Amino acid sequence: MNSYTPVIGLEIHVELKTKSKIFCQCSADYFGKVPNTNTCPVCLGMPGALPVPNRTAIEWTIKIGQALGCTINKHSKFDRKHYYYPDLPKGYQISQYDEPFAVSGNLMGFGITRVHLEEDTGKLTHAGDDTLVDFNRSSVPLVEIVTEPDFDSVEDVKAFLEELHTIIKYLDVSDANMEEGSMRIEPNISLSVIADKAERMKHLPNYKVEVKNINSFNFAKKAIEYELIRQAGILDAGKTPAQETRGYNEDKKITYSQRSKEEAQDYRYFPEPDIPPIELTDKEIADIKATLPELPAAKRERFMKDFGLKENEVKILVGDRSIADYYESVFSKIKLNRASSDIENIEKLTASAIVNKRISINQSLDEFTEQFIEVYKPVEVDEDKLSSVIASIIENNPKQVEQYKSGKTGLMGFFIGQVMKEMKGQADPQALQKLIIEKLS
Ligand SMILES: [Zn+2]
Repeated sequence: MNSYTPVIGLEIHVELKTKSKIFCQCSADYFGKVPNTNTCPVCLGMPGALPVPNRTAIEWTIKIGQALGCTINKHSKFDRKHYYYPDLPKGYQISQYDEPFAVSGNLMGFGITRVHLEEDTGKLTHAGDDTLVDFNRSSVPLVEIVTEPDFDSVEDVKAFLEELHTIIKYLDVSDANMEEGSMRIEPNISLSVIADKAERMKHLPNYKVEVKNINSFNFAKKAIEYELIRQAGILDAGKTPAQETRGYNEDKKITYSQRSKEEAQDYRYFPEPDIPPIELTDKEIADIKATLPELPAAKRERFMKDFGLKENEVKILVGDRSIADYYESVFSKIKLNRASSDIENIEKLTASAIVNKRISINQSLDEFTEQFIEVYKPVEVDEDKLSSVIASIIENNPKQVEQYKSGKTGLMGFFIGQVMKEMKGQADPQALQKLIIEKLS
């Protein structure tokens, strides 16, 4: 049996949540609408209907490219990608071929080959012997992100996809809802016998299997794991796996052959004659870049450095931009409140209260602040009262005292509980334990 190293690249499709579709005025929000009610001659592909590109869709594609560290092409264009399928009435898809908006980026050390913009297709639903077609989704703007075949483990793929998903959500350009299909993953997978990474990249395997339209991180992981085992079996038998496109069956947890892979030239790409090439100035590119928010990686680093938070805390806080924003707003608010002046480490305590769900964030900043001060305000202990309470508890429970002294130290909890009850919670349990031990000895 040979030892193989996985060679995995990713294609990720992200539907943009622009108001209108990419080349017409129809709404891009098609989910749940009555089939074929969200269409016009342009997105139905009627002869003579002219596409007019959506400026926002172009800007958001560039934004995604910039967030992934890409170079933005000052000159780019749309191309026709020809193929025949019932969900594509024009017989071609308007996409980008050799001059996409963004190229050569990097995320978490994995190379981003390109980021381009294209139109989504209609949707087919198979019902018994019939197939129904719905063009509501036709021409919704779709961004395709293509990576280098840099991944050699399923864990890396999963971590990358999660980070990409977080970034897209931060940019607020897509719902990136995997269940509704607004983010779809297509891994391409092969196995190499070369262990050294640099060598492996120079001599990529002579075949590649692409798994189509996966709509969950978990399914992506399972589909890749299945492929790695399937392909190793074929290679071990001295054969080469077929270059093909496969689907993933979620119920059976297997991939299955769909069709042999088309080569690029089969699509007969040529420049879209109805849309002039897009020229961008340095200023336009810089202006788009200026709208980027602080990205998750930078935010995590800042939270750790500036507020002394732990890695697991920033992971949760930064994983959702609205939680990160809430966190920063609420601790600022707490600090401004005079009642918090004797609470130390407010940033850390706020993070811990949110992460451990001690205080709910589903309330106004004022309500959170109020609760926070209630929970974390140092209690002022009446030392004399505490001392006499401890003395009386010891006096009134001779049996427990005797048991404790003979080694049943677990009874400490009982004493603390009794004292806390008498003090109505106005004491620090740790300090209390020390005091009780003193009095008992
Ligand atoms: Zn339309």
